[in-house]
Amino acid sequence: MGTPITIENIEQVLKDRVAELLEEPEYKTDFNSDVYALDADGNPIVKVAAANVSLEYDLWEGMRNPASIGCYPAGMPEFWEYYAHRRKRNIDETGRYSIFQIPRSYESASKEYNRAVIISVMLPFSHNLIKTYARPILKRGEAKPYAFKKTYDKVNRIINKAVTRAAVDLMNAENVVIPLDDDTVKSISREIIPASRQGASHGPCKDVNVPQKSIAVLVGLGQLGISRMLFCDEMSGGEIVRYTGPLRSIVIFDKDRLETDGRGGVIYPTQAWREFLFRLTDFTDIDPEIDRFRFCSYLGENGNGCSQCVQYCPSGAQPSSAPGKNGKYPEEVAKQSYRFFNDKLQFDFARCLEDRGQMASMIPEWACARCITICAASGIRKEFPAANYRRKTAELASAQ
Ligand code: SF4
Ligand code: SF4
Repeated sequence: MGTPITIENIEQVLKDRVAELLEEPEYKTDFNSDVYALDADGNPIVKVAAANVSLEYDLWEGMRNPASIGCYPAGMPEFWEYYAHRRKRNIDETGRYSIFQIPRSYESASKEYNRAVIISVMLPFSHNLIKTYARPILKRGEAKPYAFKKTYDKVNRIINKAVTRAAVDLMNAENVVIPLDDDTVKSISREIIPASRQGASHGPCKDVNVPQKSIAVLVGLGQLGISRMLFCDEMSGGEIVRYTGPLRSIVIFDKDRLETDGRGGVIYPTQAWREFLFRLTDFTDIDPEIDRFRFCSYLGENGNGCSQCVQYCPSGAQPSSAPGKNGKYPEEVAKQSYRFFNDKLQFDFARCLEDRGQMASMIPEWACARCITICAASGIRKEFPAANYRRKTAELASAQ
C-alpha cells in the first residue's frame, strides 16, 4: 500500500530525491559550491513537517484577510480541483459513460478519501553562504546582490524538482498526490482561482494564491519572525541552529484513518493549536508566556530584543510594518488606516518592491533578501523555543 505517511519516511524520500538530483550532471556542480545546508556526514539537510485533516477542514478559517494571507488563499477544494481537472474521466460520478471528460467533484473526493495530508518541505540554504552574503551588509558595505540570487535560484530549482519526484514515490493505487512546486502553484492560480480572486499572499511573497509560508506555520515546520519571513531554530550539539530556505508543499488525499494523536509526527491542527499560532504570529501580542515560544527575539526581555531585519532593510518596508517593542504601532504607521484590516497591518510590500522589484526588472540577478539573510546569519536566537517548540507543537496539535 505504498510508503506509510510518517515524518521519518517522508523526510527520507525527500533526502533521497535531493541526493539523487545532486548526482545528476545538471546539478552536481551546485552541490560542490556550498549552496545547501549539510549534515555532519556532508549530506543535504531537508526539513519536513506534516499535518492531516478531514476534507471538511478549512485550512484558512479566520485568516482570509489581505493583511494576513490574502482574501482567497487556495485550500483543499482548490488543490483537488486542480488535480481533478488534470485527470478528467469520461465516466460521470454515477458510473455512466459520457462523450465528455468530466472532472470529479470535491464532494465525491470527500466520500472516497478519509483525510488529506499536508506536507511542508524546506531545503535550507548553506549557513556559510548566508554568512558570506551577510558580512558586508552587517558592515554597512555593499553586498553583491547576484551572490544571493544565484544561490536562491539553485536551491529553488532543486526543491521544485525534489518535491515532484517525491510525489511520484508517495503515489499508490489508492491515493492522490499533488506536489505544490512553483509550476503547480502558478497553474492553480491561473486555472482554478477566478481572475477576480487572484492575489498575493503575505509579506515579501509571490504573486500566487498558495501561501507556502502559512502552510509551513500551520503544520509546525517553522515560525514567521517580525520580518514575516519563515525560519526554524533547533538545538544541535548545544548550539541553536537557524534554518531558512525555500518552501514547497505536497498534498495527499488518502483512505487512511485521520490520525489525531500526532502519530508518526503527523499533527492534527486543533483549534487550540490555531489559536496559539494566531497569537504567536501577532507581534502586537506581547504576552511573555506567548513570546517565550517565539523563535524571533524582536521583543526580547525589557524591550531589548533583536531588530536587525528592521534596521538593515534598505527600502523601509520592515520598519514601516513592525510594531514598537510595546506592541503598538508608531503614529506614522497607525495613521495609515488603509493598511489595516480587522486590526491587522498589511506588510508594506509596495516599499519592498520599489527597492528590489524595480532593480530586478533591469537586472534579473538582483535580489535583496537582507531581512532573511541577516536574520539567518546573526539574528539573536533564544534557547527556550529552540529546545521546546516541538514539544509545544505535540502538546497542542493533537486532539487527545
Ligand atoms: S527584501 Fe529587502 S527591501 Fe524587502 S523587506 Fe526584505 S530587506 Fe526590506
Ligand atoms: S532578525 Fe531578529 S528581529 Fe528580525 S526576524 Fe530575525 S530574530 Fe526577529
